[in-house]
Amino acid sequence: MNLHRPIAEGEVTAVEIRVRGRVQGVGFRPTVWRLAREHGLSGEVLNDADGVLVRVGGSAQAIADFVARMHREPPPLGRIDQVEIRDFAGELATEFRIAESVGGTTHTQVTPDAGVCPECAREVLDPFERRFRYPFTNCTHCGPRFSIVTGVPYDREQTTMATFAMCPDCEREYRDPADRRFHAEAIACHACGPKARLVRFDRAAVSFDQHSMLDDVDAVCGLLQKGEIVAIKGLGGFQLACDATRADTVSRLRALKHRDAKPFALMARDLDVIRRYARVDGEAERVLTSPEAPIVIHPADGPELLPEAIAPGLRTLGFMLPTTPLHLLVLRRMTRPVVMTSGNLCDEPQVIDEETARERLSGIAPYALIHDRAIANRIDDSVVRIMADRPRLIRRARGYAPAPIKLPPGFETAPELLAMGGELKATFCLVKDGEAILSQHQGDLEDVATYDDYRKNLTLYATLFDHTPVALIADRHPEYLSTKLARERAQAEGLALIELQHHHAHVAACLAENAYPLDAAPVLGIVLDGLGLGDDGTIWGGEFLLADYRGYERLGTFKPVAMPGGAAAVKEPWRNLYAHLMAEMGPAHFAMNFAELELFAYLEAKPRATLDAMIKNGVNAPLASSCGRLFDAVAAALGLCRERQAYEGEAGAKLEGIVDDDALHNEDEALAYPLSIPNLRGSGLPYIEPLAMWNAILGDLILNTPAPVMAARFHKGLAKAIAAMARKLARRDRADGARFDRIALSGGCFQNLVLFEEVTRRLEAEDFTVLSHSQVPANDGGLALGQAAIGAAHVLNAKNKPREGNASCASESQAAL
Ligand SMILES: [Zn+2]
Ligand SMILES: [Zn+2]
Repeated sequence: MNLHRPIAEGEVTAVEIRVRGRVQGVGFRPTVWRLAREHGLSGEVLNDADGVLVRVGGSAQAIADFVARMHREPPPLGRIDQVEIRDFAGELATEFRIAESVGGTTHTQVTPDAGVCPECAREVLDPFERRFRYPFTNCTHCGPRFSIVTGVPYDREQTTMATFAMCPDCEREYRDPADRRFHAEAIACHACGPKARLVRFDRAAVSFDQHSMLDDVDAVCGLLQKGEIVAIKGLGGFQLACDATRADTVSRLRALKHRDAKPFALMARDLDVIRRYARVDGEAERVLTSPEAPIVIHPADGPELLPEAIAPGLRTLGFMLPTTPLHLLVLRRMTRPVVMTSGNLCDEPQVIDEETARERLSGIAPYALIHDRAIANRIDDSVVRIMADRPRLIRRARGYAPAPIKLPPGFETAPELLAMGGELKATFCLVKDGEAILSQHQGDLEDVATYDDYRKNLTLYATLFDHTPVALIADRHPEYLSTKLARERAQAEGLALIELQHHHAHVAACLAENAYPLDAAPVLGIVLDGLGLGDDGTIWGGEFLLADYRGYERLGTFKPVAMPGGAAAVKEPWRNLYAHLMAEMGPAHFAMNFAELELFAYLEAKPRATLDAMIKNGVNAPLASSCGRLFDAVAAALGLCRERQAYEGEAGAKLEGIVDDDALHNEDEALAYPLSIPNLRGSGLPYIEPLAMWNAILGDLILNTPAPVMAARFHKGLAKAIAAMARKLARRDRADGARFDRIALSGGCFQNLVLFEEVTRRLEAEDFTVLSHSQVPANDGGLALGQAAIGAAHVLNAKNKPREGNASCASESQAAL
């Protein structure tokens, strides 16, 4: 049936409608059922291996209206990717029905957990509803999914709700297609579901002097208001909560949790509370209130201030709204924001069970709000930042994982592959049926508990997605635990192993999430991050790569500078500052011109002789062309973070945090710090040379130029140099045409809003098309997606051109372009 031709009056017909997308396990069938009935259509709807199949009969006009509404009004968690309509000649049920699923291979997708929906939120706050104040209320449009799943297919028996038998009322709702809880697998109520309980970790009885408490959940609010720290068993793990406006409590939480400076996440009961402390624009509001319900990073410029200890040295605050009815009820009477940070010590993974919570958290929080629905899978809160008017995932976990990301055109026939990710902020990625399934954020694999969880999740995803890879893909860095594991598995299982250059994978991640086709022309990938192993055995981290999925050519870089102390230089910014100054101007020039600086005295007091020897002899002082280390050095020069970074990226975050807006946007461009682009001796590779910048920075220090102005000049100068490098590399004046007209930005440094927006603006002003990250993090959290895409390109290439290469070879060819 062609819905675009005019429909004759009274025409009656029957069609079969194939719907693809996120249409299973999200209440799509009952939505179709309701719409079909409203339009007086006969027929049926069912799940099968390809998605949802609808067969309807009725007037052609009613069918056309029905299809239009299905597009317009999908269920909140549903997403239609494709609809095909063809005539149908078979028998149809007279009364529209939901039919049994067909096909042995039917796999109901495991969807991400979703934040409490408006309807459920209303019910739990309404004294006349049977779920009034029930903390585990959920429906087809919201509630736990991934965090409670233990196997497939996704039904109640394969979740941690299996131990709760439905009461007759819940059972009736579950069976009724007209009910919002039709087939809501986690359905529960006061009578039959999990219960929340406030306990003391020391097992003493909880007694309260206040009698106004409604229940245990409400009592938590009272404790928070009194300045207590409370552990809360949340959706994907335990959290630690306290009143965010009490500086003493926040500092106590920091000290007890051994968390020096990393910003705390906040939760507020509504947008009005957030707006007292932060600027919430339209896009940020949309993301905050979306079913994904992540932490959104906002500019901290509301009328009221929170204690400095919430986000030391930063001008941003990460806020989320209540993500579950439990949080909603805890915060109901709380007119102030609360800290809602992950329940763990320092960098360990979030605790998910009560015994471990008692063991690890009882020294931090005397009280815990617990419940008897087990958390099957640990999943952190996701973090989003709005940059250049679009939401960008900084950490992709709850609400987003494990939703698949469609691979670009050309990847449709890729076989099943597994990309193992990096080392820090690790994720892994499955390739299956033309889609990439990126795991939730795992954390830093060097932590033993995190590594255990990473391996557990590899097994879990293999089960949930019925996945058997034909090849493994890993970073080329031999010391990454993910690489070591890939090598072991490849050996043990006889699988092909593809090892990739770190920054190439970053570019590919950016291309893949932007649906950049497999066979499209190479782009310039600008990858700015901390460290990744380069092809020449040195450390890379500020790279300009002409790249596609199949290969890359390194066209430009940052200046390689020694990292005296190796890993110590990653932690201690002053080491990079010293190495930069010595590499640029040398000790004599520095002493002659800048001896009056406090900075000079500071560095004089350091073990300079040792560092000099390391640098001179190249012992434990690897060369790194790293943008991240340049940020560290500049932050150290400005006195923002010199001795030690409390968390990865702290120096860079603080440098961004103090940027003076007026200097950034209104000051003469000529005052931006100058960086030049000469060629490296030997390779002839163009590189970003910061010598003139260092002279200008030290000169500004002598003039007592305010640090926020200097930070602005640094960001601007760097962005200008990056744009100039791109212009130079493009060779637009060549008779045979420019080398590229598209540029992909990736790497953790691009999570710096000022740098990202300045670079993007300048590149777009030069008519480059800029591709950037949004669905996956620009940092190593997105790396596995890029590995997966490159791996798939290799395997497809090998399939198509068997004589040109073998996908099982251990390394990729650099000059494959
Ligand atoms: Zn709901
Ligand atoms: Zn019930």
